[in-house]
Amino acid sequence: MLGEAVGRHPVGETMIDHVTFAVGNLEKSKRFYEQAFAPLGYRVAFGEAGRFWAFDIDDGLFEIMQSADKPPLTRVHVAFRVKSRADVDEFYRAALAAGARDNGPPGPRPQYTPNYYACFVLDPDGYNIEAMIDEVA
Ligand SMILES: [Zn+2]
Repeated sequence: MLGEAVGRHPVGETMIDHVTFAVGNLEKSKRFYEQAFAPLGYRVAFGEAGRFWAFDIDDGLFEIMQSADKPPLTRVHVAFRVKSRADVDEFYRAALAAGARDNGPPGPRPQYTPNYYACFVLDPDGYNIEAMIDEVA
């Protein structure tokens, strides 16, 4: 998740858990994606008016988040689902060694889900990249 957003993260087969777009008008974007996703069957799974909405895209989430709420935002946020908490730790170390900036060290994020464990780094362009796992350790 991005910022303090709260939600579930289903475990699926792909390694992209969720993608989050910062948007300028949350309700306008919600209406757009509801209409555009209708043929695909993707619907809002959870969210909070004025903050964010998360669409269930079967084996992951597509999220839109109001951009003015939680600076600093990057326009696109991607979370990679990894296989273990050790992978989260290793990704964090490797990313920092490669020049990333810390945006949240590896650790539990119980505000998202009870077993959520993640880290956040900012890549060379400032994109907020997350590695996460949401399973019992
Ligand atoms: Zn995230």
